[in-house]
Amino acid sequence: MARLLILGGGIAGQTAALHAKKRLGGSHEVAVVTPNSLWNWIPSNIWVGVGLMKPEQVTFPLAPVYRKTGISHYQAKAISLHPEGSAGQPKPFVTIEHTSPEKKGRQEIVTYDYLINSTGPKLNFDATPGLGPLHHSQSVCTYDHAAHAATALDEAVARMQRGEKQTLVIGTGHGTCTCQGAAFEYLFNVEFELRRRKVRDKANLVWISNEQELGDFGIGGMHIKRGGYITHSRIFTESLYTERGVKWITRAHVKEVGPNTILYETLDGEEKTVSFDFAMLLPPFAGVGLKAFDKQGADITATMFAKSGFMLVDGNYEPKPYDQWLPSDWPSTYQSPIYKNIFAVGIAFAPPHAISKPMTSPKGTPIFPAPPRTGMPSGVMARQVAFNITDMMQGRSEVPTRQASLARMGAACIASAGNSFWNGTAVAMTMYPIVPDFQTYPETGRALRYTTGEIGLAGHWIKHLLHFGFIYKARANPFWRVVPE
Ligand SMILES: Cc1cc2nc3c(=O)[nH]c(=O)nc-3n(C[C@H](O)[C@H](O)[C@H](O)COP(=O)(O)OP(=O)(O)OC[C@H]3O[C@@H](n4cnc5c(N)ncnc54)[C@H](O)[C@@H]3O)c2cc1C
Repeated sequence: MARLLILGGGIAGQTAALHAKKRLGGSHEVAVVTPNSLWNWIPSNIWVGVGLMKPEQVTFPLAPVYRKTGISHYQAKAISLHPEGSAGQPKPFVTIEHTSPEKKGRQEIVTYDYLINSTGPKLNFDATPGLGPLHHSQSVCTYDHAAHAATALDEAVARMQRGEKQTLVIGTGHGTCTCQGAAFEYLFNVEFELRRRKVRDKANLVWISNEQELGDFGIGGMHIKRGGYITHSRIFTESLYTERGVKWITRAHVKEVGPNTILYETLDGEEKTVSFDFAMLLPPFAGVGLKAFDKQGADITATMFAKSGFMLVDGNYEPKPYDQWLPSDWPSTYQSPIYKNIFAVGIAFAPPHAISKPMTSPKGTPIFPAPPRTGMPSGVMARQVAFNITDMMQGRSEVPTRQASLARMGAACIASAGNSFWNGTAVAMTMYPIVPDFQTYPETGRALRYTTGEIGLAGHWIKHLLHFGFIYKARANPFWRVVPE
């Protein structure tokens, strides 16, 4: 019996584990190493962050799901990979450190035949002094951060109800951040909530981000089809912000967050400040800091991982000028080029390059979004990798046969506000492909037929359906496989 070991039980890890176990049945083992006892549907943290949902509505305990599906489970975090084994252990293994209250701090090795790294991001608040819930700004990246943000937002609303003016700043907390879409959705929700709570006139809402223009979203912006005409996401987003009275600061690298002031550097090298009473700023992402060692114990981390800490897979990582990047540079099987039984999916793999144009200030500070790492592509690549590995484990193939390149995959992004059936709205955007392909679509890099933007109630309903559908699926409830990634 062979073992597939999955590091990280988030969106990608859970998808890979469920599909792999379903295919392998009792013939081989699937084991997951993940540090939290709860699974979190992260996209709905946005609603926790405005008080529309409670953490219990976006989480569930993982252990019962693993028990009923027959997946082995270690509540632990992976620390190091030993893909060649060691002098005393001939099989490849991972060193883990337990995080459950009963075994906290205890280390153990877990051997594997195939490995999926789906450890997601390290939320790198330390990159910006003063950033994050331990300091001066809020976050919605985890359900407890989001609950904390909701309390801080309630306090700001209470001050507005007493007649005080408040400035709320929302966006990205560093020049290299990704996930602008999530911050945008939070802004959209906060604006909606302030109107619902009848204090909108007391709020000065400010967006701050590292995008070159509004609507970049880390994908270099896009031309979208909307109501029969074609427009750019910059114009679409600028009109959304203007209609809602939101001011914006773009091309900004947040350098420091103080108790009530954000210091930022702009792309033209100036240093400026913006004051705030409430700020939600996303951190930049990095890899979770896994180390790797060869059989002799020599550190091979730099050969398996990019400097960012994300794992190198089958992409083309050679540095090239922006205009020479090709869709084919993007990974498609997520297999390590060195160890063919190791794969990395979701946020854990290293993108070969940014999608937005890299820019630096005259002081040399990089100020441009990193590529977005959304849930749907993470799920799709996890499923394809799980299928490829199970084929190899069951002898149907010796190499990965299915592909899931972001340059040949579409995505949908829905920013939905409000929680009642009729009283809500959403901005829904779809795109194909995620990574622009100017060879196939010379004019805009994407297929206009599938690259759209709309506002309305329908997107709001879909986003709520996704919330229930994905949690239903992640719980491995009956017929979970009919819910797409
Ligand atoms: C606020 C917010 C809103 C978002 N909204 C959307 C949205 O609307 N739509 C969308 O498509 N995407 C959205 N995303 C992005 C989406 O959440 C990510 O794409 C998705 O979570 C990536 O999945 P993942 O499995 O790679 O990482 P994660 O889901 O973060 O999972 C990583 C897992 O690895 C575990 N882990 C960490 N370190 C270790 C270790 N050392 N060993 C073992 N396990 C480890 C973590 O605890 C976690 O369980 C949003 C993201 C944020 C932050």
